[in-house]
Amino acid sequence: MSFEAPVSLRTVLQDVATSGITLIVDEGSEPDGYDAWQSTIWGGSGGGTGISVPLGVSLQEQLVAVADQIQEIVIEELWYSGHSASWPECPIHGGHPLKPVIAGPDAMWECPSDHTKLFMIGELPQEPPGAP
Ligand SMILES: [Zn+2]
Repeated sequence: MSFEAPVSLRTVLQDVATSGITLIVDEGSEPDGYDAWQSTIWGGSGGGTGISVPLGVSLQEQLVAVADQIQEIVIEELWYSGHSASWPECPIHGGHPLKPVIAGPDAMWECPSDHTKLFMIGELPQEPPGAP
Protein backbone atom coordinates (compact mmCIF):
# COMPACT_ATOMS: atom_id res chain seq x y z
CA MET A 1 0.00 0.00 0.00
CA SER A 2 1.19 3.45 -0.86
CA PHE A 3 0.98 6.20 1.71
CA GLU A 4 1.32 9.04 -0.75
CA ALA A 5 -1.25 11.83 -0.68
CA PRO A 6 -4.62 10.82 -2.12
CA VAL A 7 -5.86 12.47 -5.33
CA SER A 8 -8.43 14.46 -3.34
CA LEU A 9 -5.75 16.10 -1.23
CA ARG A 10 -3.61 16.89 -4.26
CA THR A 11 -6.68 18.42 -5.95
CA VAL A 12 -7.41 20.68 -2.98
CA LEU A 13 -3.72 21.69 -2.83
CA GLN A 14 -4.10 23.04 -6.39
CA ASP A 15 -6.65 25.45 -4.96
CA VAL A 16 -4.34 26.31 -2.07
CA ALA A 17 -1.79 27.48 -4.65
CA THR A 18 -4.17 30.37 -5.48
CA SER A 19 -3.97 31.61 -1.86
CA GLY A 20 -0.24 32.32 -1.90
CA ILE A 21 0.13 30.01 1.09
CA THR A 22 2.52 27.08 0.87
CA LEU A 23 1.65 23.98 2.82
CA ILE A 24 3.99 21.07 3.36
CA VAL A 25 2.34 17.67 3.62
CA ASP A 26 4.09 15.00 5.67
CA GLU A 27 4.32 11.51 4.32
CA GLY A 28 1.07 9.77 5.16
CA SER A 29 0.92 7.30 7.98
CA GLU A 30 -0.40 3.78 7.81
CA PRO A 31 -4.21 3.84 8.22
CA ASP A 32 -3.82 1.66 11.34
CA GLY A 33 -7.34 0.38 11.58
CA TYR A 34 -8.98 3.59 10.39
CA ASP A 35 -10.40 3.83 6.91
CA ALA A 36 -8.62 7.10 6.40
CA TRP A 37 -5.32 8.42 5.17
CA GLN A 38 -3.73 10.53 7.86
CA SER A 39 -0.93 13.01 7.83
CA THR A 40 0.27 16.30 9.19
CA ILE A 41 0.25 19.57 7.28
CA TRP A 42 2.79 22.29 8.02
CA GLY A 43 2.48 25.96 7.17
CA GLY A 44 4.65 29.02 7.57
CA SER A 45 3.31 29.75 11.06
CA GLY A 46 5.27 26.73 12.27
CA GLY A 47 2.25 24.81 13.44
CA GLY A 48 1.46 21.30 12.30
CA THR A 49 -2.16 20.28 11.83
CA GLY A 50 -3.41 16.74 11.52
CA ILE A 51 -5.44 15.89 8.45
CA SER A 52 -7.60 12.86 7.88
CA VAL A 53 -8.78 11.89 4.40
CA PRO A 54 -11.69 9.43 4.49
CA LEU A 55 -11.07 6.65 1.97
CA GLY A 56 -14.28 4.63 2.04
CA VAL A 57 -16.41 7.37 0.47
CA SER A 58 -16.99 8.81 -2.99
CA LEU A 59 -14.42 11.18 -4.47
CA GLN A 60 -16.68 14.21 -4.11
CA GLU A 61 -17.33 13.44 -0.43
CA GLN A 62 -13.59 13.05 0.02
CA LEU A 63 -12.94 16.37 -1.72
CA VAL A 64 -15.42 18.21 0.50
CA ALA A 65 -14.00 16.62 3.66
CA VAL A 66 -10.45 17.52 2.65
CA ALA A 67 -11.33 21.03 1.44
CA ASP A 68 -13.04 21.69 4.76
CA GLN A 69 -9.93 20.78 6.75
CA ILE A 70 -7.48 22.48 4.41
CA GLN A 71 -9.59 25.64 4.28
CA GLU A 72 -9.26 26.00 8.04
CA ILE A 73 -5.48 25.64 7.84
CA VAL A 74 -5.16 28.16 4.98
CA ILE A 75 -7.34 30.70 6.82
CA GLU A 76 -5.15 30.33 9.93
CA GLU A 77 -2.02 30.76 7.83
CA LEU A 78 -3.42 33.85 6.08
CA TRP A 79 -4.40 35.33 9.40
CA TYR A 80 -0.92 34.58 10.75
CA SER A 81 0.72 36.33 7.81
CA GLY A 82 -1.55 39.35 8.20
CA HIS A 83 -3.64 38.85 5.06
CA SER A 84 -7.40 38.79 4.61
CA ALA A 85 -8.52 35.59 6.26
CA SER A 86 -11.30 34.79 3.82
CA TRP A 87 -10.25 31.93 1.61
CA PRO A 88 -11.38 31.25 -0.97
CA GLU A 89 -13.01 34.66 -0.88
CA CYS A 90 -16.48 34.93 -2.41
CA PRO A 91 -16.04 36.76 -5.75
CA ILE A 92 -19.67 37.95 -5.69
CA HIS A 93 -19.90 39.57 -2.27
CA GLY A 94 -16.34 39.62 -0.91
CA GLY A 95 -15.65 39.50 2.80
CA HIS A 96 -16.66 35.89 3.32
CA PRO A 97 -15.13 32.58 2.33
CA LEU A 98 -16.76 30.02 0.06
CA LYS A 99 -17.86 26.70 1.48
CA PRO A 100 -17.04 23.26 0.05
CA VAL A 101 -20.22 21.36 -0.83
CA ILE A 102 -21.36 18.35 -2.79
CA ALA A 103 -23.30 19.42 -5.89
CA GLY A 104 -24.69 16.40 -7.69
CA PRO A 105 -21.71 14.48 -9.04
CA ASP A 106 -19.32 17.32 -8.28
CA ALA A 107 -17.56 18.86 -5.32
CA MET A 108 -17.76 22.63 -5.51
CA TRP A 109 -17.04 25.88 -3.72
CA GLU A 110 -20.35 27.54 -2.91
CA CYS A 111 -21.28 31.00 -1.63
CA PRO A 112 -22.76 30.29 1.82
CA SER A 113 -24.94 33.38 1.51
CA ASP A 114 -26.88 32.78 -1.72
CA HIS A 115 -25.73 29.19 -2.41
CA THR A 116 -24.34 29.94 -5.85
CA LYS A 117 -22.01 27.14 -6.93
CA LEU A 118 -18.98 29.00 -8.17
CA PHE A 119 -16.00 26.75 -8.82
CA MET A 120 -15.18 23.08 -8.95
CA ILE A 121 -12.88 22.16 -6.08
CA GLY A 122 -9.42 22.05 -7.62
CA GLU A 123 -10.30 24.69 -10.22
CA LEU A 124 -10.20 27.96 -8.32
CA PRO A 125 -9.00 30.69 -10.67
CA GLN A 126 -5.44 31.86 -10.14
CA GLU A 127 -5.30 35.41 -8.85
CA PRO A 128 -3.32 37.71 -11.11
CA PRO A 129 0.17 38.19 -9.65
CA GLY A 130 0.41 41.21 -7.37
CA ALA A 131 -3.34 41.38 -6.68
CA PRO A 132 -4.08 42.83 -3.26
ZN1 LIG B 1 -21.03 35.30 -1.29
